[in-house]
Amino acid sequence: MRDLSGKTALVTGASRGIGRAIAERLAADGARVIVHYASNDDLAKETVAAIEGAGGQAYAVKAAFEDGVDALFEGIQGERLDILVNNAAILAGVLGTVSEEQFDRVFAVNVRAPYFIIERALPLLNDGGRIINISSAVVRIALPDLVYSMTKGALDTLGFSLAPLLGDRNITVNTVSPGVTETDMNAWLRADDGTAERAVTEVTALGRIGRPQDIADAVALLASEEARWITGHVLDVTGGYFLG
Ligand code: NDP
Repeated sequence: MRDLSGKTALVTGASRGIGRAIAERLAADGARVIVHYASNDDLAKETVAAIEGAGGQAYAVKAAFEDGVDALFEGIQGERLDILVNNAAILAGVLGTVSEEQFDRVFAVNVRAPYFIIERALPLLNDGGRIINISSAVVRIALPDLVYSMTKGALDTLGFSLAPLLGDRNITVNTVSPGVTETDMNAWLRADDGTAERAVTEVTALGRIGRPQDIADAVALLASEEARWITGHVLDVTGGYFLG
């Protein structure tokens, strides 16, 4: 465990999956965590209850990013932040199945929201703070959900380009790129007799599917004092997925 006591973290998409694991891990390290979610009130409450049950501090804020980020900032009025994790994202679909409205929706949630969350969080973020964006290995591996992949490419570029602008405030900006991880986003992993899971593990150097905690631990590292000299970096957290 690392020491984040006295720090406040905002984690988007923290009601379930990777975001929930990140929220729980940062709270276990001592941070007070703002648990953002879009619609699943019960799951967001569960995340908060899990954190509080383990002795941590958290509260939930609801905002669907298709509608912009005003609701998020109304929900966190008066806060100072130390750690911002842009984690929330949605899939699109394969070529030929995505309407212009769906395209805009996916870009709104996966790219527009992180950009404007960062812009509006900067005056609230203490010097020495951390911005961590959750991207994906799809930026280096060709997969058929082109729109989703394009959004993650944009996020990588955002992190790289933003880092030099915040160095004078000692704020680091890094990107974490998970591979296939056991969450609702990957329901297809459980949809057959194990063929899909085997196909992924066979091309993964460490020979298993990722767990949300694997990603959360990498985020905790980047959020910590030990990572003070790391900025503008994209960290592959895939267990060595498709290394060739
Ligand atoms: P999940 O689908 O499990 O969870 C998504 C989270 O985002 C939920 O908290 C959800 O809230 C929130 N969310 C969904 N729609 C919206 C919206 N319209 N506006 C705001 N928030 C929304 O995702 P994962 O945990 O699988 O993924 C987390 C991150 O990791 C994403 O950035 C994803 O791209 C990335 N990633 C995931 C991989 C994987 O294999 N799972 C691989 C590589 C990257 P609610 O519960 O209320 O719907």
